[in-house]
Amino acid sequence: MTKAAVPGAESPAPSEGSNAAAAAELQKKLFQNRYLVDAERPHIVVRPHTTPSKNLLALTRTCPAGCYSLNEHGQVEIAVDGCLECGTCRVVCAPSGDIAWSYPRGGFGVMFKFG
Ligand code: SF4
Repeated sequence: MTKAAVPGAESPAPSEGSNAAAAAELQKKLFQNRYLVDAERPHIVVRPHTTPSKNLLALTRTCPAGCYSLNEHGQVEIAVDGCLECGTCRVVCAPSGDIAWSYPRGGFGVMFKFG
């Protein structure tokens, strides 16, 4: 009996080299965007906490722009410059209410450059 061919079933997993190349390409494209930060009213605010919830901690790995990080006290912080307004953090933290999220005021936020 012969094995049936399953398209893509034996495709090799992406190598670290191809992941690094894809990450470099993504960084290059993100660098083309421009951001106008609203210093008076950041559009995302992390609610005060002593220990981050699982959802809040997940943002340090899931935000595509890398806006979330841990400070020296193990608390999650956000730097909104670079935010793509994708809403991932809004979805992840909706159940826990760890962040307050709103669109930036008119004239502020990300300006995408394509091409
Ligand atoms: Fe990051 Fe998207 Fe949230 Fe902006 S909206 S901080 S890009 S996850």
